[in-house]
Amino acid sequence: MKMKNCKICFTLKYFNEFPLSPTSKNGITNQCKCCISKKQKLKNDMNKELFNKRTKNQAILEDFLFIYDPYWLTQEAKDKGLEDPERYNIGYLFEKTMNKLTGFMKTEGNSINDAFKDGVFMEWKTSTVHSSGKTRISGVKNNVTGSYKTATIVAMIYNRITDKLDFFWIPKKYIKRLVDETASGGIEGQYSIKEGKYLPKLGNFYVESFDTILQLIEQEISNSVSN
Ligand SMILES: [Zn+2]
Repeated sequence: MKMKNCKICFTLKYFNEFPLSPTSKNGITNQCKCCISKKQKLKNDMNKELFNKRTKNQAILEDFLFIYDPYWLTQEAKDKGLEDPERYNIGYLFEKTMNKLTGFMKTEGNSINDAFKDGVFMEWKTSTVHSSGKTRISGVKNNVTGSYKTATIVAMIYNRITDKLDFFWIPKKYIKRLVDETASGGIEGQYSIKEGKYLPKLGNFYVESFDTILQLIEQEISNSVSN
């Protein structure tokens, strides 16, 4: 009987150890049954793990708003918030909290959109890294009017793979060249599970921590005041 090497474990095995594959030349896969079932198990475990992870709203409540927004100070408020995190407009709560933290007070219509003070503009965005690693900061280009956001973007992205909040600082001069012109009008990003990091281009704007974001905002304010 014929034998071949498994492409994963490199063990020389009989052909009947390899499942059939409609796409390969000789009709069988190049990975042995044992390796394929191990891979399937890993995939199932990963899905299970992702399934148990939080929603964007829950993560932003627990890891950001409970810390920085005094509205959630008491345990009672926290418990109530976690009863149904999806009932909140989390983007709005993020904007409101950032405006309070940084002293920006501008409100627009019903929501606080662009915040500014002394000519400094900030754009607060939230998003999610999905289990595929894909993410998108949406609403950066208005596809109807063709206009772009003109303010530096601070994005808080819930990464479902790592179950943590990640922060991005995108200076306004980079916004236009980052926008996906073909479809969404947003900034597309990819988190590589294999490499454990964000790929360029979005990855170039990753910052280590929320404290760094606060420092950058302070810098931007003092730059604009001295100009
Ligand atoms: Zn194998």
